[in-house]
Amino acid sequence: MGTPRTDLAHVLTRLEGNSYGAYKQLKGDWRVGDFELIVDRVQSDPYAPPSMVRIRVPRRVAGIPEHLVDSAAGRIAAGDFLTRAFGRAARNLSPDGGKGSGGIFMVRVGQEILQRSSVLIDHAAIEVRCEIAFPAAGRRIKARAAQRLLTEVLPSVVDRSLIFHNLDAAAFDLHVRSYRDAEHVRAQLATRALVAFVADGAVLPRASGHRDEPLTDHAVPLESPDNLRVTLTLSNGTEVSGLGIPEGVTVIVGGGYHGKSTLLQALERGVYDHVPGDGRELVITRVDAMAVRAEDGRAVTGTDVSPFITNLPTGADTKQFSTTNASGSTSQAASTTEAVESGAKVLLLDEDTCATNLMVRDQRMRALVPDEHEPITPFVERVRALYRDRGVSTVLVTGGSGAFLDVADLVIAMDAYRASDATARARQVSADFPSGEQTRPTKIFGELREHVPAAAKDDGARGTRADGRGGERGGLREKPARGRGLGTIQRGREDVDVSALSQLVDPSQTEAIARLLDQIDRTAVGQQSLNELVDRLMTHVERDGLDVLAHHRGHPGHLALPRRQEVHAAYHRRR
Ligand code: ADP
Ligand code: MG
Repeated sequence: MGTPRTDLAHVLTRLEGNSYGAYKQLKGDWRVGDFELIVDRVQSDPYAPPSMVRIRVPRRVAGIPEHLVDSAAGRIAAGDFLTRAFGRAARNLSPDGGKGSGGIFMVRVGQEILQRSSVLIDHAAIEVRCEIAFPAAGRRIKARAAQRLLTEVLPSVVDRSLIFHNLDAAAFDLHVRSYRDAEHVRAQLATRALVAFVADGAVLPRASGHRDEPLTDHAVPLESPDNLRVTLTLSNGTEVSGLGIPEGVTVIVGGGYHGKSTLLQALERGVYDHVPGDGRELVITRVDAMAVRAEDGRAVTGTDVSPFITNLPTGADTKQFSTTNASGSTSQAASTTEAVESGAKVLLLDEDTCATNLMVRDQRMRALVPDEHEPITPFVERVRALYRDRGVSTVLVTGGSGAFLDVADLVIAMDAYRASDATARARQVSADFPSGEQTRPTKIFGELREHVPAAAKDDGARGTRADGRGGERGGLREKPARGRGLGTIQRGREDVDVSALSQLVDPSQTEAIARLLDQIDRTAVGQQSLNELVDRLMTHVERDGLDVLAHHRGHPGHLALPRRQEVHAAYHRRR
């Protein structure tokens, strides 16, 4: 960056009536009031995606108190808070209410506090990465509107959202504290042998299936049953009590509509921290807990599904199983072993979304179809070994099948949204009505064959160089992979469908995963396991920031930290 130019208003006046392309002159570094505006890329026409800009406000000008940003956790939460503040101000102050030409746009965010690249707080400045649509009339520049946008509206947005004394200090403080508390609680789970914690008073139900805000009418806050209540501490030492779900096999039972799935979904999302007011601020799950479901039609490439599936009539090798169109049971078997391979120590399953034939096999079916003709070993026979041999706990919601009562360490009953411990009753039921099912808990889970990504071929043929400029020829993939919305990653001509991953929560995570998939391709040496590769890349991102995933094509502000589990899961869904 050179010395910023100070004559933005003047340059803009000269552009009046020019064709839109003349906006290219804005590329570069400008001083606007007491901040810097860096125009990285100018859109080629009014209908193209808006121009990419960065705004740097010196720390001394912004005046954010040191205690909010003096740790990595503080900077993550503060960056998230400022992203929301800037987005709100941009929406409220932009002409057109932010739609169409002449708007300032910040990435949209949900209920989770995530490490994001939209606002970066370094020792010198607060840097915001956003988009601006430069105003046009047809294909001509509207210079006066542009001048107003960049030299009046933008400074107001900055003033309102990045200058501490104009912000709601209490809300800012709460945002950072809430994040620190959640991280502090999560750090206690393993030492307390818990897989999850749901604080008393937590509000789990959401406004609707499509809205992630809390249900406001008649929500019943969670209340922990006495014998499952644990006490953990917040970051300042205050105690907090709630339902502790221990390691092992936990089954959640209850009548339909009594809140079982809602509890499980809250646990799925509990791998992330939530904004104050969400209701799930202190619903905290181990960071590597993985939701597993049936996903028929997904691709499977070289996954070891042998703990669940062997001796297929086709003779296919189930230690290295591939298909472009998996059935419900094979897809779920693959997702389960892939989760274990990724290091997940907790599996979250809901009977509503599982393949019944992978979960259980009843006595009558065993009588009718002898075991040696059945390729599937159901999950109920593996769930104990999974914990005993691999240390992988399971939390499972079941409404229709009692088979899991025999193998559960803990049974939680949901009754009109109230949780109680039904373990003793379940044991009695198991004794009174023997299922006759051989659950064979002595079976071992065994080692899984790990994925080893193939070595990158020479750069020219691979097509994705570090700078993202295609370096290839002959119909191979040239553009870097990119996220399309939340549920799709586009890699050349291939669309990788990640829409079934319920713990992928932000399109900026999808974008980050797209870039990580390219990095896996680029850095694989043919010997390192996928797990080692992903771990190395993620450690790099966590330490040096999301900007290590930047390349010239993508927007620098549209990245958020994904989990290792979703990176693995996306890798496995390539065809
Ligand atoms: P189940 O899986 O037991 O059939 P769900 O979890 O799907 O039940 O919940 C059924 C309905 O009850 C959903 O509309 C959900 O939003 C609502 N609900 C769940 N938990 C609560 C709660 N604690 N308070 C109020 N409503 C709830
Ligand atoms: Mg349900």
